[in-house]
This record gives sequence, structure tokens and C-alpha cells, in this order.
Amino acid sequence: MLQYPESILFPPVCEICGNLSVAGKMLCDYCLEHCFEPANPDGSPSCPGHIPPDFVNVQDALWKYDKKGFLQSLLIKLKYGGQRDIGRQCGMLIGRQWTSSHWYKPDDNWKLVPVPLHWFKFWKRGYNQAKEIALGFSTETGVPVCEDDCISRFKFTRTQTGFSLDKRLKNMEGAFTVRKPEDLRNHHVIILDDVFTTGATTYQLADQIYKTGVRGVYIYTIGVA
Ligand SMILES: [Zn+2]
Repeated sequence: MLQYPESILFPPVCEICGNLSVAGKMLCDYCLEHCFEPANPDGSPSCPGHIPPDFVNVQDALWKYDKKGFLQSLLIKLKYGGQRDIGRQCGMLIGRQWTSSHWYKPDDNWKLVPVPLHWFKFWKRGYNQAKEIALGFSTETGVPVCEDDCISRFKFTRTQTGFSLDKRLKNMEGAFTVRKPEDLRNHHVIILDDVFTTGATTYQLADQIYKTGVRGVYIYTIGVA
């Protein structure tokens, strides 16, 4: 089922090729198969070119980020075009990738954490694209999403382009506060976001989550740079 009215006003067509798609799907099977490059074909604990800190068990993604390509335009639609269903469908695909990975342990306690948006950005955009991804993941896998007030984001981060990783991490210090650590403690926590670039933001969040006494921290995104 489609989740939002804007999707009902228009017939279900694939966001890439424009051909009629199955209801509830923003991407047709053909484009899913042919338009994107898998981010981590070997199923390694992290995508090529990324070395996560020790407190991150896995850093994985669906597809390689392609500047000016299909994935970039898709993520722009998800983030700025109000097309929340893209997040839902991609979240389901990430969930499917997770259930067929080595890290999938269905009997353990898992919890999903969408990277929170600063309230001002949330107010401007009206939704958090990472939450849409988490809801899709949850639909596919049954893993619950943490409450919206579990973690707060304080800093309104400006673009960090041109900063070194050290400087970016410094810039993000104190950006997140876990308000309900008891909701995460003793869980395997999966952080979800649209795209993973340097990891400065996500690692800062992962660090805060790790300190609550979780059993593992995993990062999954749609795209990876
Ligand atoms: Zn298509």
C-alpha cells in the first residue's frame, strides 16, 4: 500500500524509467537490477574504502553513490521532493539485504535508529527521510523502530565540505544525546540513513549509542560514497 496522498494522486510509475510500476513500488524491478551498482558485493563488514571505528560492527549500504547519476536523483527526490515512499521501498530492500547477511540473528533483540534530524530541518521538510527508511526496514523484518524522542539532535550542522574527517568529527561533537538509553541497552542497534559519506555524523551517533551499553552497532544506508 502507498503511504502518502501525493503518491495516490499520480499513477504508480517507476521514478527512473517512468514505466508503470507495481503499486507501492517507486522503482521497477528492471531499474533495480540495472541502474545501480551494489555497494558491497563481497558482503564485507564495511564497504570498500571505509574503515569504521571499533564500536561499529558493520557499515553496509545498498548501492554506490553515483554523482549526477540515478541514485543521486533518487535521493534528492526522497530528501527534498517529498517522495517518502522511495525511503519505504529502499528501507525494505535494506531489510532484505540484512536478513540474507552474516549479521542476521533473528532471535536477538534488535532496534532501529533512524539518524535524527535537527528540529529546524524537520520543521522545514516535514519528515525525516531516515525514519521512512527505518519504517520500510521494519515492515520487511519486524524489527521495531525506536521512539522519536529516544535521541535528540542539537547542532544545526552546516555543510562540512572541505573539512578534514578530524575536523568534521570535532564539528559534530555533542550533536546527539540519547534520552532513553534503557530503550537501546542490551540491543543490537541498526542505524539507518539515506547516504553514508565520511561517516562523521553517523559515527558520532554510533558512539553515543554504543555508550548506552548496547550489544552491537550497525550502520545501513541506501547509498555509500
Ligand atoms: Zn524503472
